[in-house]
Amino acid sequence: MRRQIWNFGLLGAGVVLGACAPAGSEKSDHGLDSELLMKHIEVLSSDEFGGRAPGSPGEEKTAAYLTDAFRGYKLEPGNPDGTYIQKVPLVGITATDESHLSLVRGREREELAAGLGYVAWTKRVVEEVDLDGELVFVGYGVVAPEYDWDDYKDVDVEGKVLVMLVNDPPLEDAFGGDAMTYYGRWTYKFEIAAEKGAAGAFIVHETVPAGYPWEVVGGSWSGESFDLETPDKNMGRVAVEGWFSSGAARALFEGAGLDFEEQKQAAADRTFRPVALGTRVQAEIKNELRNIESANLVAKLEGSEVPDEAILYVAHWDHLGTLESMEGDNIFNGAYDNATGVAGLIELARIYSELDPAPRRSVMFLAVTAEEQGLLGSRYYAEHPLVPAAKTVAAINMDGLNIWGRTTDVTIVGMGQSSLDELAAQVAGRQGRTLLSDPEPEKGYYYRSDHFEFAKVGIPAFYADAGITFEGRPEGWGETQRAKYVADDYHKPSDEIKQWYELSGMVQDLELFYEMGLELATGDAWPEWSETSEFKSKR
Ligand SMILES: [Zn+2]
Repeated sequence: MRRQIWNFGLLGAGVVLGACAPAGSEKSDHGLDSELLMKHIEVLSSDEFGGRAPGSPGEEKTAAYLTDAFRGYKLEPGNPDGTYIQKVPLVGITATDESHLSLVRGREREELAAGLGYVAWTKRVVEEVDLDGELVFVGYGVVAPEYDWDDYKDVDVEGKVLVMLVNDPPLEDAFGGDAMTYYGRWTYKFEIAAEKGAAGAFIVHETVPAGYPWEVVGGSWSGESFDLETPDKNMGRVAVEGWFSSGAARALFEGAGLDFEEQKQAAADRTFRPVALGTRVQAEIKNELRNIESANLVAKLEGSEVPDEAILYVAHWDHLGTLESMEGDNIFNGAYDNATGVAGLIELARIYSELDPAPRRSVMFLAVTAEEQGLLGSRYYAEHPLVPAAKTVAAINMDGLNIWGRTTDVTIVGMGQSSLDELAAQVAGRQGRTLLSDPEPEKGYYYRSDHFEFAKVGIPAFYADAGITFEGRPEGWGETQRAKYVADDYHKPSDEIKQWYELSGMVQDLELFYEMGLELATGDAWPEWSETSEFKSKR
């Protein structure tokens, strides 16, 4: 066992703690204020902010709101240029209505309905791409030598259009068992397709393994999408990326005389070989392009003794914006995702700013852009850090904070990744709470929010989710609320503040993040990756 010393002297003695709040007050021991949290959520998720899309007027409003808060708390600009802004150059890509896609088999041609049967886009920064290639089913599309797995075998798929299953191969003894590995993420699938020289790649959407319904795929990709500006204009990526709906995929297999379920079964075995589907796909994607300068917002509480080392709190400020083509309510307010996280970031910034003296190490408050577009703001920060990765003690990410009330547990996503879990266990223990590992590891949440980009450059990264055991609620109630959110509100215009929002649990979780950060900022110990973590070698 590694020895882990967390020094709780300071905290235990109550030196840096505020006095206990009077009974009945909304404020926590450390002064976290649920009314202020609610106010921030209200403003950020208001229709006026338009769903906070990068490059929209909502971005300017969000940036101004954060800047005012940071300045009001007298925090230092996190950027050495003296501003709270780290510019993030993005390119916005909007596929126009002239785009289309058809399947061609012999003399038959079938046009698929955009948004219903498929979604397709190109990440190449060009105004038009044409795709004409033979469809090949490549199972899960995975090459993983450490698991002795290769879906492609000796088949050359250069110039082909790949059809892939979502998630990892369902093996019990590999790919993390029930948990999703990076091989299961759609980002990986498009990366490997490009490496193989394919012309295009489509993932078959299935609600259970994907972790979200088809509307999420259709909705997320039908507006403007963003990418970091890269020197090669993304020409190294496949020409067309996309999803087929489950129904469209089944029909496609049937047309080729194949049974989808049977093929899926075959793909779950190491002996699987790619299967030509006897069908060509012809598509044309026309884009409107624009370059924008988006922003990560960053403030700093300068450390009193070791200012060049920092603890990083992170929350993405962006959401999906407003979808003009949608009827009715078309503003994706993103109250839970992620006005809650940004509200938490602002509140943490406030109570840290009141510490006198400041903790030994610096504490950074980073609100990143374009998380919803593929973790772009955090990737940009990781590639252009304002404190070097080797000097960054840890990153604590907040994406969707508890809106359902107090819990006796807290969910750690990616439990076992680093010794931050041990620190979390000690702090949670003092709250009378226990840690719970992610009940849905198969959905790969550790790879689905900003902490992943920090983990990729070796910074121990922590991400907790609301617990599931709610005080005064029957067993199973927490899981039901969570499932309701995913089914009804996740990435939909209905992610708005509800009458029933109850922020006491958010305060509890923020206390946990606060004490963890304070411990990291004041103590001697540095957190470490676990021996088994895929990120250990990066540190
Ligand atoms: Zn989010």
